[in-house]
Amino acid sequence: MKEVFVNQDHARVGYYKSVLDEAGIQSYIRNEYGNNITDIPSPLFFPTLCVVNDEDYESAMGILGDIYYAPTSQLPDWNCPKCAEWIPGSFDLCWACGELRAEAKINSNGDENT
Ligand SMILES: [Zn+2]
Repeated sequence: MKEVFVNQDHARVGYYKSVLDEAGIQSYIRNEYGNNITDIPSPLFFPTLCVVNDEDYESAMGILGDIYYAPTSQLPDWNCPKCAEWIPGSFDLCWACGELRAEAKINSNGDENT
């Protein structure tokens, strides 16, 4: 058993699991309901996608990497202001810490520049 993906977003972890299911890779989610244990978000309790067979680890990472970094838009990569991680332009949320992209914040607030 090896961890392939950790994220506080249950939906995304579930989606990645369904992708591995389709690829025929056995996997399961640890801490699927872990956030209910405490009100304090901690990476220790984030949902964790694991492959059952260690030999599937490389192919699982390859498949998930293809999805994660698939060029779905022309947007440039952006640098997370919170944790300094570089995020593919097609994402509005930092995959590492969940911070919202600055442009997305401005858009959601309406016309902030006027
Ligand atoms: Zn971040």
